[in-house]
Amino acid sequence: MSLIDKVKSAGVVGAGGAGFPTHVKLQARVEWYLGNGAECEPLMHKDRELMTYFPDEVVQGLQLAAAAVGAGRAVIGIKKKNHKAIKALQKACSGTNVKLHFFDDYYPAGDEYEVVHTITGRLIPPQGLPLDVGCVVNNVETLYNLCQADQGKPVTDTFMTITGMVKKPLSTWAPIGMRGKDVLELAGGVTQEPFKVMESGLMMGKVVKDLNQPVVKTTGGLIVLPADHNLMQRYSRTPQQMARIGHSACDQCSYCTELCPRYLLGYDVQPHLVMRSLGFSAMGAELWNKYALLCSQCGLCTLYSCPEALYPREACFDATTDLRKADRGKWDGPRQVKVHATKEYRRVPVKQLMTRLGVTRYEAEAGYVKLDIQPKQVFIPVKQHVGAAARPIVKVGEAVARGQLIAQVPDGALGAAVHCSINGRVVDIMDDMIVIEA
Ligand code: SF4
Ligand code: SF4
Repeated sequence: MSLIDKVKSAGVVGAGGAGFPTHVKLQARVEWYLGNGAECEPLMHKDRELMTYFPDEVVQGLQLAAAAVGAGRAVIGIKKKNHKAIKALQKACSGTNVKLHFFDDYYPAGDEYEVVHTITGRLIPPQGLPLDVGCVVNNVETLYNLCQADQGKPVTDTFMTITGMVKKPLSTWAPIGMRGKDVLELAGGVTQEPFKVMESGLMMGKVVKDLNQPVVKTTGGLIVLPADHNLMQRYSRTPQQMARIGHSACDQCSYCTELCPRYLLGYDVQPHLVMRSLGFSAMGAELWNKYALLCSQCGLCTLYSCPEALYPREACFDATTDLRKADRGKWDGPRQVKVHATKEYRRVPVKQLMTRLGVTRYEAEAGYVKLDIQPKQVFIPVKQHVGAAARPIVKVGEAVARGQLIAQVPDGALGAAVHCSINGRVVDIMDDMIVIEA
Protein backbone atom coordinates (compact mmCIF):
# COMPACT_ATOMS: atom_id res chain seq x y z
CA MET A 1 0.00 0.00 0.00
CA SER A 2 1.36 3.49 -0.83
CA LEU A 3 1.85 6.07 1.91
CA ILE A 4 -1.04 8.09 0.46
CA ASP A 5 -3.38 5.08 0.77
CA LYS A 6 -2.16 4.28 4.29
CA VAL A 7 -2.68 7.89 5.42
CA LYS A 8 -6.13 7.95 3.82
CA SER A 9 -7.13 4.66 5.47
CA ALA A 10 -5.88 5.91 8.85
CA GLY A 11 -8.05 9.04 8.65
CA VAL A 12 -5.18 11.49 9.16
CA VAL A 13 -6.19 15.18 8.99
CA GLY A 14 -4.43 18.43 9.83
CA ALA A 15 -4.39 18.36 13.61
CA GLY A 16 -3.49 22.02 14.00
CA GLY A 17 -6.26 23.63 11.97
CA ALA A 18 -9.55 22.89 10.27
CA GLY A 19 -8.76 19.22 9.63
CA PHE A 20 -7.79 19.16 5.96
CA PRO A 21 -7.30 15.52 4.87
CA THR A 22 -3.54 14.87 4.85
CA HIS A 23 -3.55 12.29 2.03
CA VAL A 24 -4.58 15.07 -0.39
CA LYS A 25 -1.54 17.17 0.56
CA LEU A 26 0.67 14.16 -0.10
CA GLN A 27 -0.35 14.15 -3.77
CA ALA A 28 1.61 17.37 -4.38
CA ARG A 29 5.12 17.70 -5.84
CA VAL A 30 7.01 20.36 -3.87
CA GLU A 31 10.52 21.37 -2.83
CA TRP A 32 9.92 21.98 0.87
CA TYR A 33 8.06 19.95 3.48
CA LEU A 34 7.67 21.92 6.69
CA GLY A 35 6.74 20.63 10.14
CA ASN A 36 5.00 23.33 12.14
CA GLY A 37 5.95 23.16 15.81
CA ALA A 38 5.88 26.91 16.37
CA GLU A 39 3.05 26.70 18.88
CA CYS A 40 2.18 30.29 19.74
CA GLU A 41 -1.26 30.25 21.42
CA PRO A 42 -0.81 31.46 25.03
CA LEU A 43 -0.99 28.66 27.68
CA MET A 44 -0.91 25.88 25.06
CA HIS A 45 2.03 23.46 25.28
CA LYS A 46 0.91 20.30 23.54
CA ASP A 47 3.17 20.65 20.46
CA ARG A 48 6.18 21.30 22.67
CA GLU A 49 5.35 18.19 24.72
CA LEU A 50 4.70 16.05 21.65
CA MET A 51 8.09 17.02 20.18
CA THR A 52 9.78 16.34 23.54
CA TYR A 53 8.28 12.90 24.11
CA PHE A 54 7.64 11.64 20.56
CA PRO A 55 10.46 13.20 18.50
CA ASP A 56 11.29 10.04 16.54
CA GLU A 57 7.72 9.70 15.26
CA VAL A 58 7.57 13.39 14.29
CA VAL A 59 10.88 13.24 12.41
CA GLN A 60 10.02 9.93 10.76
CA GLY A 61 6.62 11.28 9.71
CA LEU A 62 8.32 14.27 8.12
CA GLN A 63 10.85 12.10 6.30
CA LEU A 64 8.12 9.86 4.90
CA ALA A 65 6.00 12.81 3.80
CA ALA A 66 8.93 14.67 2.23
CA ALA A 67 9.92 11.56 0.28
CA ALA A 68 6.32 11.07 -0.90
CA VAL A 69 6.11 14.57 -2.43
CA GLY A 70 9.69 14.64 -3.72
CA ALA A 71 10.71 17.45 -1.35
CA GLY A 72 14.48 17.81 -1.07
CA ARG A 73 14.19 19.99 2.04
CA ALA A 74 12.49 18.91 5.24
CA VAL A 75 12.43 21.37 8.14
CA ILE A 76 10.71 21.52 11.53
CA GLY A 77 10.02 25.01 12.91
CA ILE A 78 10.25 25.23 16.69
CA LYS A 79 10.62 28.05 19.20
CA LYS A 80 14.09 28.76 20.60
CA LYS A 81 12.72 28.73 24.13
CA ASN A 82 11.68 25.02 23.98
CA HIS A 83 15.07 23.64 25.01
CA LYS A 84 13.96 20.12 25.97
CA ALA A 85 12.02 19.63 22.75
CA ILE A 86 14.93 20.98 20.68
CA LYS A 87 17.33 18.53 22.34
CA ALA A 88 14.98 15.62 21.71
CA LEU A 89 14.42 16.62 18.08
CA GLN A 90 18.13 17.17 17.45
CA LYS A 91 18.77 13.60 18.60
CA ALA A 92 15.95 12.27 16.40
CA CYS A 93 17.19 14.29 13.39
CA SER A 94 20.76 13.08 13.60
CA GLY A 95 21.69 11.07 10.52
CA THR A 96 18.58 12.25 8.65
CA ASN A 97 18.06 15.10 6.17
CA VAL A 98 15.61 16.83 8.55
CA LYS A 99 16.72 20.26 9.77
CA LEU A 100 15.41 22.49 12.55
CA HIS A 101 14.52 26.16 12.25
CA PHE A 102 14.29 28.26 15.39
CA PHE A 103 11.61 30.89 15.95
CA ASP A 104 11.54 33.69 18.51
CA ASP A 105 8.66 33.66 20.95
CA TYR A 106 6.14 35.91 19.23
CA TYR A 107 2.52 35.68 18.11
CA PRO A 108 1.52 34.37 15.57
CA ALA A 109 4.79 32.56 14.76
CA GLY A 110 2.76 29.46 13.84
CA ASP A 111 0.68 31.15 11.13
CA GLU A 112 1.22 29.13 7.94
CA TYR A 113 2.15 32.20 5.87
CA GLU A 114 4.61 33.27 8.57
CA VAL A 115 6.12 29.77 8.85
CA VAL A 116 6.65 29.52 5.08
CA HIS A 117 8.22 32.97 4.87
CA THR A 118 10.44 32.61 7.94
CA ILE A 119 11.82 29.22 6.90
CA THR A 120 11.99 29.49 3.11
CA GLY A 121 11.99 33.26 2.47
CA ARG A 122 9.03 32.72 0.11
CA LEU A 123 5.77 34.68 0.26
CA ILE A 124 2.51 32.89 -0.48
CA PRO A 125 0.44 34.89 -3.02
CA PRO A 126 -2.70 36.62 -1.67
CA GLN A 127 -5.40 34.01 -0.87
CA GLY A 128 -2.91 31.33 -1.96
CA LEU A 129 -1.62 28.13 -0.42
CA PRO A 130 1.90 27.04 0.60
CA LEU A 131 1.68 24.79 -2.46
CA ASP A 132 1.80 27.91 -4.68
CA VAL A 133 5.38 28.50 -3.54
CA GLY A 134 6.50 24.86 -3.54
CA CYS A 135 5.76 24.05 0.11
CA VAL A 136 3.57 21.75 2.18
CA VAL A 137 3.08 22.52 5.88
CA ASN A 138 1.88 20.05 8.52
CA ASN A 139 1.46 20.51 12.24
CA VAL A 140 3.82 18.22 14.21
CA GLU A 141 0.91 16.14 15.55
CA THR A 142 -0.13 15.46 11.95
CA LEU A 143 3.41 14.23 11.25
CA TYR A 144 3.17 11.95 14.29
CA ASN A 145 -0.14 10.57 12.98
CA LEU A 146 1.36 10.15 9.54
CA CYS A 147 4.17 8.04 11.02
CA GLN A 148 1.62 5.92 12.88
CA ALA A 149 -0.44 5.53 9.70
CA ASP A 150 2.62 4.15 7.92
CA GLN A 151 2.66 1.43 10.59
CA GLY A 152 -1.03 0.70 10.05
CA LYS A 153 -2.28 2.59 13.12
CA PRO A 154 -5.30 4.87 12.56
CA VAL A 155 -6.07 8.13 14.36
CA THR A 156 -7.93 7.26 17.57
CA ASP A 157 -6.69 9.90 20.01
CA THR A 158 -5.94 13.60 20.03
CA PHE A 159 -2.98 15.16 21.82
CA MET A 160 -4.09 18.09 23.94
CA THR A 161 -3.25 20.52 26.73
CA ILE A 162 -5.74 20.80 29.60
CA THR A 163 -4.92 23.91 31.59
CA GLY A 164 -6.08 27.12 33.28
CA MET A 165 -8.21 26.70 36.41
CA VAL A 166 -7.71 22.93 36.73
CA LYS A 167 -6.00 21.03 39.57
CA LYS A 168 -3.14 19.51 37.56
CA PRO A 169 -2.55 21.19 34.19
CA LEU A 170 -1.13 18.64 31.74
CA SER A 171 -0.77 17.54 28.15
CA THR A 172 -1.94 14.06 27.19
CA TRP A 173 -3.60 11.83 24.61
CA ALA A 174 -7.38 11.77 24.92
CA PRO A 175 -9.61 9.27 23.08
CA ILE A 176 -11.54 10.97 20.28
CA GLY A 177 -15.19 11.27 21.23
CA MET A 178 -14.61 11.79 24.95
CA ARG A 179 -16.86 14.52 26.31
CA GLY A 180 -15.25 17.83 27.28
CA LYS A 181 -16.41 17.53 30.89
CA ASP A 182 -14.74 14.10 31.20
CA VAL A 183 -11.55 15.42 29.64
CA LEU A 184 -11.37 18.17 32.29
CA GLU A 185 -11.37 15.43 34.95
CA LEU A 186 -8.12 14.09 33.47
CA ALA A 187 -6.50 17.23 34.87
CA GLY A 188 -8.09 16.75 38.29
CA GLY A 189 -11.17 18.81 37.50
CA VAL A 190 -11.95 22.51 37.66
CA THR A 191 -10.80 24.39 40.77
CA GLN A 192 -13.28 27.25 40.82
CA GLU A 193 -16.89 27.95 39.83
CA PRO A 194 -18.31 29.58 37.79
CA PHE A 195 -16.00 28.93 34.85
CA LYS A 196 -15.88 28.95 31.08
CA VAL A 197 -13.76 26.90 28.72
CA MET A 198 -11.90 27.84 25.56
CA GLU A 199 -11.10 25.12 23.06
CA SER A 200 -7.75 24.94 21.21
CA GLY A 201 -6.51 28.43 22.11
CA LEU A 202 -7.40 31.80 23.56
CA MET A 203 -6.69 33.72 20.35
CA MET A 204 -8.02 31.52 17.55
CA GLY A 205 -9.97 28.91 19.48
CA LYS A 206 -13.64 29.01 20.39
CA VAL A 207 -15.69 29.21 23.57
CA VAL A 208 -17.07 25.79 24.49
CA LYS A 209 -20.84 26.18 24.67
CA ASP A 210 -21.60 22.66 25.85
CA LEU A 211 -19.14 20.49 27.77
CA ASN A 212 -21.03 17.39 26.62
CA GLN A 213 -19.52 18.02 23.19
CA PRO A 214 -16.72 15.57 22.39
CA VAL A 215 -13.08 16.25 21.61
CA VAL A 216 -12.15 15.51 17.98
CA LYS A 217 -9.05 15.02 15.82
CA THR A 218 -8.45 18.78 15.65
CA THR A 219 -8.94 19.58 19.35
CA GLY A 220 -5.67 20.97 20.68
CA GLY A 221 -6.68 21.75 24.22
CA LEU A 222 -9.15 22.97 26.80
CA ILE A 223 -8.39 26.11 28.80
CA VAL A 224 -10.52 26.89 31.85
CA LEU A 225 -10.94 30.54 32.88
CA PRO A 226 -13.26 32.30 35.35
CA ALA A 227 -16.64 33.03 33.78
CA ASP A 228 -16.16 36.74 34.53
CA HIS A 229 -12.66 36.91 33.05
CA ASN A 230 -12.29 39.87 30.72
CA LEU A 231 -11.57 37.60 27.78
CA MET A 232 -14.71 35.56 28.34
CA GLN A 233 -16.76 38.76 28.66
CA ARG A 234 -15.35 40.00 25.37
CA TYR A 235 -16.17 36.73 23.61
CA SER A 236 -19.70 36.75 25.01
CA ARG A 237 -20.86 39.74 22.92
CA THR A 238 -23.11 39.16 19.93
CA PRO A 239 -21.97 40.25 16.42
CA GLN A 240 -24.57 43.02 16.60
CA GLN A 241 -23.14 44.33 19.89
CA MET A 242 -19.58 44.14 18.54
CA ALA A 243 -20.57 46.09 15.43
CA ARG A 244 -22.54 48.68 17.45
CA ILE A 245 -19.58 49.36 19.75
CA GLY A 246 -17.26 49.63 16.73
CA HIS A 247 -19.70 51.96 14.99
CA SER A 248 -19.62 54.46 17.85
CA ALA A 249 -16.12 54.10 19.31
CA CYS A 250 -13.57 53.50 16.53
CA ASP A 251 -11.43 56.64 16.26
CA GLN A 252 -9.49 55.33 13.22
CA CYS A 253 -6.19 55.36 15.10
CA SER A 254 -5.13 52.47 12.81
CA TYR A 255 -3.16 50.57 15.49
CA CYS A 256 -5.06 47.45 14.42
CA THR A 257 -3.53 47.74 10.96
CA GLU A 258 -0.09 48.88 12.05
CA LEU A 259 0.35 45.75 14.21
CA CYS A 260 -1.47 43.30 11.94
CA PRO A 261 0.91 40.39 11.22
CA ARG A 262 -0.46 39.84 7.71
CA TYR A 263 -0.19 43.57 6.89
CA LEU A 264 3.40 43.54 8.15
CA LEU A 265 4.14 40.48 6.02
CA GLY A 266 3.11 42.57 3.02
CA TYR A 267 -0.54 41.71 2.42
CA ASP A 268 -3.11 44.44 1.95
CA VAL A 269 -5.10 43.80 5.13
CA GLN A 270 -6.29 47.03 6.71
CA PRO A 271 -8.74 46.36 9.54
CA HIS A 272 -9.11 50.06 10.36
CA LEU A 273 -10.57 50.58 6.88
CA VAL A 274 -12.91 47.65 7.43
CA MET A 275 -13.96 49.24 10.74
CA ARG A 276 -14.62 52.47 8.86
CA SER A 277 -17.46 50.70 7.04
CA LEU A 278 -19.21 50.40 10.39
CA GLY A 279 -19.22 54.18 10.67
CA PHE A 280 -21.61 54.44 7.75
CA SER A 281 -24.05 51.59 8.29
CA ALA A 282 -25.19 49.54 11.26
CA MET A 283 -23.37 46.30 10.35
CA GLY A 284 -21.12 47.66 7.62
CA ALA A 285 -22.79 45.27 5.20
CA GLU A 286 -23.24 47.57 2.20
CA LEU A 287 -19.78 49.05 2.47
CA TRP A 288 -17.51 46.18 3.40
CA ASN A 289 -14.25 46.43 1.52
CA LYS A 290 -11.51 44.19 0.17
CA TYR A 291 -9.14 45.08 3.03
CA ALA A 292 -10.71 42.25 5.05
CA LEU A 293 -10.16 39.52 2.49
CA LEU A 294 -6.58 38.61 3.38
CA CYS A 295 -7.16 38.51 7.15
CA SER A 296 -6.03 35.29 8.86
CA GLN A 297 -8.36 35.75 11.87
CA CYS A 298 -5.32 35.66 14.20
CA GLY A 299 -7.19 37.94 16.61
CA LEU A 300 -4.26 40.20 17.45
CA CYS A 301 -6.12 43.38 16.43
CA THR A 302 -9.13 42.61 18.62
CA LEU A 303 -7.35 41.15 21.64
CA TYR A 304 -4.09 43.11 21.69
CA SER A 305 -3.72 46.11 19.38
CA CYS A 306 -6.97 48.05 19.68
CA PRO A 307 -6.77 50.52 22.57
CA GLU A 308 -10.57 50.79 22.64
CA ALA A 309 -11.12 47.02 22.98
CA LEU A 310 -13.13 46.95 19.74
CA TYR A 311 -13.58 44.02 17.35
CA PRO A 312 -11.70 44.55 14.07
CA ARG A 313 -11.06 40.79 13.66
CA GLU A 314 -14.79 40.11 13.86
CA ALA A 315 -15.49 42.96 11.42
CA CYS A 316 -13.04 41.35 8.98
CA PHE A 317 -14.78 38.01 9.46
CA ASP A 318 -18.24 39.45 8.84
CA ALA A 319 -16.96 41.40 5.84
CA THR A 320 -15.31 38.35 4.28
CA THR A 321 -18.41 36.22 4.85
CA ASP A 322 -20.72 38.82 3.30
CA LEU A 323 -18.39 39.49 0.37
CA ARG A 324 -18.15 35.76 -0.38
CA LYS A 325 -21.92 35.47 -0.29
CA ALA A 326 -22.14 38.36 -2.76
CA ASP A 327 -19.59 36.61 -5.00
CA ARG A 328 -17.05 39.36 -4.26
CA GLY A 329 -14.75 37.23 -2.12
CA LYS A 330 -11.92 36.85 -4.61
CA TRP A 331 -8.90 39.12 -4.13
CA ASP A 332 -8.50 41.40 -7.15
CA GLY A 333 -5.95 43.76 -5.61
CA PRO A 334 -2.19 43.70 -6.11
CA ARG A 335 -0.61 40.21 -6.33
CA GLN A 336 2.81 41.44 -5.34
CA VAL A 337 3.71 40.97 -1.68
CA LYS A 338 6.51 42.94 -0.05
CA VAL A 339 7.44 42.61 3.61
CA HIS A 340 6.90 45.83 5.58
CA ALA A 341 10.14 47.54 6.60
CA THR A 342 9.17 47.59 10.28
CA LYS A 343 7.91 44.01 10.54
CA GLU A 344 10.71 42.72 12.75
CA TYR A 345 10.27 45.62 15.21
CA ARG A 346 6.52 45.25 15.59
CA ARG A 347 6.39 41.62 16.60
CA VAL A 348 4.27 40.89 19.64
CA PRO A 349 6.08 38.74 22.24
CA VAL A 350 3.81 36.03 23.66
CA LYS A 351 4.64 37.16 27.22
CA GLN A 352 3.41 40.67 26.42
CA LEU A 353 0.30 39.23 24.79
CA MET A 354 -0.42 37.17 27.90
CA THR A 355 -0.17 40.27 30.07
CA ARG A 356 -2.60 42.09 27.80
CA LEU A 357 -5.01 39.13 27.88
CA GLY A 358 -4.75 38.92 31.67
CA VAL A 359 -3.79 35.23 31.67
CA THR A 360 -0.20 35.29 32.98
CA ARG A 361 -1.31 33.79 36.29
CA TYR A 362 -2.71 30.73 34.49
CA GLU A 363 0.57 29.88 32.77
CA ALA A 364 1.61 26.35 33.83
CA GLU A 365 4.12 23.78 32.65
CA ALA A 366 1.31 21.40 31.51
CA GLY A 367 3.85 18.64 30.88
CA TYR A 368 3.04 15.33 29.21
CA VAL A 369 1.45 12.71 31.46
CA LYS A 370 0.73 9.22 30.15
CA LEU A 371 -2.71 8.25 31.40
CA ASP A 372 -4.68 5.06 31.19
CA ILE A 373 -8.00 6.50 30.07
CA GLN A 374 -11.06 4.26 29.91
CA PRO A 375 -14.09 6.39 29.05
CA LYS A 376 -17.44 4.67 29.61
CA GLN A 377 -18.87 6.26 26.48
CA VAL A 378 -17.52 8.09 23.46
CA PHE A 379 -19.44 10.25 20.99
CA ILE A 380 -17.52 10.13 17.72
CA PRO A 381 -18.52 12.75 15.12
CA VAL A 382 -18.57 11.55 11.51
CA LYS A 383 -17.29 14.92 10.34
CA GLN A 384 -14.09 16.06 12.03
CA HIS A 385 -12.47 17.30 8.84
CA VAL A 386 -12.79 19.51 5.79
CA GLY A 387 -15.06 17.90 3.18
CA ALA A 388 -17.97 15.48 3.26
CA ALA A 389 -19.08 13.69 6.43
CA ALA A 390 -18.01 10.06 6.64
CA ARG A 391 -20.82 7.47 6.41
CA PRO A 392 -21.26 5.01 9.29
CA ILE A 393 -20.46 1.41 8.31
CA VAL A 394 -21.41 -0.13 11.68
CA LYS A 395 -24.85 -0.93 13.12
CA VAL A 396 -26.42 -0.37 16.52
CA GLY A 397 -25.61 -3.31 18.80
CA GLU A 398 -22.44 -4.23 16.92
CA ALA A 399 -19.29 -4.93 18.95
CA VAL A 400 -16.40 -2.67 17.90
CA ALA A 401 -12.72 -2.51 18.76
CA ARG A 402 -10.34 0.39 19.28
CA GLY A 403 -8.85 1.29 15.89
CA GLN A 404 -11.71 -0.25 13.89
CA LEU A 405 -13.05 1.70 10.92
CA ILE A 406 -16.57 2.87 11.80
CA ALA A 407 -17.32 5.51 9.15
CA GLN A 408 -16.02 5.79 5.61
CA VAL A 409 -15.74 8.69 3.15
CA PRO A 410 -18.12 8.46 0.18
CA ASP A 411 -16.31 7.38 -3.02
CA GLY A 412 -14.54 10.24 -4.75
CA ALA A 413 -15.42 12.78 -2.04
CA LEU A 414 -12.95 14.88 -0.04
CA GLY A 415 -12.98 13.69 3.56
CA ALA A 416 -11.42 11.40 6.13
CA ALA A 417 -12.17 7.96 7.54
CA VAL A 418 -13.30 7.73 11.19
CA HIS A 419 -12.16 5.03 13.61
CA CYS A 420 -13.32 3.79 16.97
CA SER A 421 -11.34 5.06 19.99
CA ILE A 422 -12.38 2.40 22.56
CA ASN A 423 -13.43 -1.25 22.71
CA GLY A 424 -17.19 -1.47 23.12
CA ARG A 425 -20.58 -1.68 21.50
CA VAL A 426 -22.40 0.79 19.23
CA VAL A 427 -25.40 2.08 21.20
CA ASP A 428 -26.63 4.83 18.89
CA ILE A 429 -26.04 6.23 15.43
CA MET A 430 -27.19 9.82 15.11
CA ASP A 431 -27.03 12.13 12.08
CA ASP A 432 -23.69 13.55 13.12
CA MET A 433 -22.11 11.02 15.49
CA ILE A 434 -21.73 7.40 16.50
CA VAL A 435 -22.12 6.61 20.21
CA ILE A 436 -20.08 3.73 21.63
CA GLU A 437 -20.31 2.31 25.14
CA ALA A 438 -17.32 0.53 26.68
S1 SF4 B 1 -7.24 50.07 16.70
FE1 SF4 B 1 -9.38 50.10 17.36
S2 SF4 B 1 -9.89 52.26 17.49
FE2 SF4 B 1 -8.00 52.11 16.29
S3 SF4 B 1 -8.71 52.01 14.14
FE3 SF4 B 1 -8.49 49.92 14.86
S4 SF4 B 1 -10.51 49.35 15.60
FE4 SF4 B 1 -10.48 51.59 15.44
S1 SF4 C 1 -7.28 39.21 12.82
FE1 SF4 C 1 -6.66 41.36 12.77
S2 SF4 C 1 -4.47 41.31 13.17
FE2 SF4 C 1 -5.04 39.23 12.55
S3 SF4 C 1 -4.76 39.15 10.34
FE3 SF4 C 1 -6.88 39.76 10.69
S4 SF4 C 1 -6.85 41.96 10.65
FE4 SF4 C 1 -4.74 41.31 10.94
